[in-house]
Amino acid sequence: MNIILLGPPGAGKGTQARRLVQERNMIQLSTGDMLRAARTSGTDMGNRVAAIMDAGELVTDEIVIDLIEEQLAANSDGGFIFDGFPRTLAQADALGELLDKCSRSLDAVIEMAVDDDALVTRITARSTCANCGEGFNDISKPIPEDGKCTVCGSTEFIRRADDNEESLRVRLLEYYKKTSPLIGYYYAKGKLRSVDGLDSMDGVAAAIKSALSE
Ligand code: AMP
Repeated sequence: MNIILLGPPGAGKGTQARRLVQERNMIQLSTGDMLRAARTSGTDMGNRVAAIMDAGELVTDEIVIDLIEEQLAANSDGGFIFDGFPRTLAQADALGELLDKCSRSLDAVIEMAVDDDALVTRITARSTCANCGEGFNDISKPIPEDGKCTVCGSTEFIRRADDNEESLRVRLLEYYKKTSPLIGYYYAKGKLRSVDGLDSMDGVAAAIKSALSE
């Protein structure tokens, strides 16, 4: 099964993708994670995209399409969860072609619907375990009092450089201008399923499960 998780920044795509990886053994393809990894390892591409990402703008279609193409070629088995990709109509068209090329198809696009006020609160409160990537949130899922990650016990946590109000506003604008047209695009293709992204993490996971069995 190959699916897309679609939604604005802070909708919970990464959290739900991690659950699907654990529960269904799927492969998470997050272009945001790939770009952050390129920055950390200091590749040419990573250096080129750093300022764009911190400002909250989208990097070029060509860069992210190449990243996805490499991953599709490197993983012949397993279902894919596209997390944060596609984000433009050109990327959506390219994904369709790439899947065709490897004789795969898209099973469903899960739209995670959330209201904008909730996004600002969620994003400015979130952090991630530096070791295993488990997500925490000061309000809904705080780091335990002993300061240890509930999954791996690490005591180091990071906040993303672009998780601030200024960058979030640009990211939201990019989402509405360039990414939200994908909702109509996938609706017209008969692939769209919507879930309430404001529900609890377990509630959203259950809604995704039922959407995938439709
Ligand atoms: P994310 O972790 O998905 O929120 O992505 C973080 C940042 O990486 C975004 O704000 C963009 O700058 C960049 N990015 C990630 N995925 C894409 C994509 N599919 N197209 C363009 N830029 C992307």
